Amino acid sequence: MRLLSPRWWRSSGVRLVGSGRGAGRQRLGDAAGSLEGEKERYEHAQRVLRAVWGYPDFRPDQARVVRHVLAGKDGLVLMPTGGGKSISFQVPALVRGGVTLVVSPLISLMQDQVATLAGKGVAAFALSGRIDVRVAHFLNRRIAQEPTFLLYLAPERIGTALLATIMKGHTPTGIIVDEAHCISSWGHDFRPAYRHIRSLRESWNVPCVALTATATPRVARDICKTLGLVDPFRLAFSFRRKNLSFAVEKGVDAGPALIRLLSGINGSSIVYDSSREGTEVWAEKLRRAGLRATAYHAGMPTERREAVQAGWLKGRMRIIVATNAFGMGIDKPDVRVVAHVGIPDSLEAWYQEAGRAGRDGRPALSLVFDTPDARTSRRAIMGSGATRRQRRKFAAMIRWLERDACRNWGLLGYFGQAAPDRCERCDQCRPDIRQRWMAP
Ligand SMILES: [Zn+2]
Repeated sequence: MRLLSPRWWRSSGVRLVGSGRGAGRQRLGDAAGSLEGEKERYEHAQRVLRAVWGYPDFRPDQARVVRHVLAGKDGLVLMPTGGGKSISFQVPALVRGGVTLVVSPLISLMQDQVATLAGKGVAAFALSGRIDVRVAHFLNRRIAQEPTFLLYLAPERIGTALLATIMKGHTPTGIIVDEAHCISSWGHDFRPAYRHIRSLRESWNVPCVALTATATPRVARDICKTLGLVDPFRLAFSFRRKNLSFAVEKGVDAGPALIRLLSGINGSSIVYDSSREGTEVWAEKLRRAGLRATAYHAGMPTERREAVQAGWLKGRMRIIVATNAFGMGIDKPDVRVVAHVGIPDSLEAWYQEAGRAGRDGRPALSLVFDTPDARTSRRAIMGSGATRRQRRKFAAMIRWLERDACRNWGLLGYFGQAAPDRCERCDQCRPDIRQRWMAP
């Protein structure tokens, strides 16, 4: 992954926020600095990575993030999904010690990370639904006993009495804000509770690092401002994925084309539709064509959803047909195709979903079926209640579908990143891409 030049940040308009305010801070990063130099801290992190994760070394992009986080500064990291975001803050959390708060928008995502950490012997806990005051007191004592503790919480927990009980007598050594685009109403998954993070971090006066996979320059600016980041380091890695091809299929009957495509694929696939009923209809259609497909949407009982997800993750079910309720926190390496039979409501949403293909670095395809039905269906879902901002985002999505120039350029331009000279990875640059993926 390539680190972008500071130009990206200039174009994002991010301004340094009152660096003088942070100068007098007594922070763990500073304290650690007096005990350990930068080099020693980084070597410590490498030892933690080897001992706990079993990896020989950080990838170059992770290394840059880790060095910055270890320095105990505020920061914003724009890293595509699959780039090893979690390790970039988990390892520094272990090096720093104490309790690190991780704000994350999705319970299943928190639980996955906590389970993974627990499997490595790292003390971590996710504050999800059923927690009472006794558990809070127990956690309060546990935090005091553990050299390192990662406490995951949804933004809605901020400012609650429960969190106050857990943290009584403790000051976190850092706050991590995962999926930080949710803080911006310009982002695509706006969660108003994210806006409370600022008061939390200011009351503790601890470093805060925000991470996201999708942020336009405007959203990046909003994240820094809303979190009140002080003189933040800013690292933006290129969105460009060399193994991921993009194509848009217009004016065809999506059914036969999708069946032809998926029949010829080894490995897993995700098909996204915009409605719950749609996922059921498509799953049935694919099954009738002899493909192993199941529907997944938020209207299904939790146990059923978990069973479907587990079956797909283990490869028992090759194709999952889902609404956008599926996928956050999913890291399955061998997804070859992400097909959209429903049109996403924004380029951010589409890219987040498309980016789930090809995490193993092998060739993968994102194909959008741009049919009149798909457009009508998305417009019906958005309804008359859509805000101007939502309509603008959808219009950008439609413009991208209608592009007659390189789709990579269009995508990178939207996210304020420099375009490659040569693409060879989209149907505008290589019209034979669809044919290459379709079974004869
Ligand atoms: Zn192209």
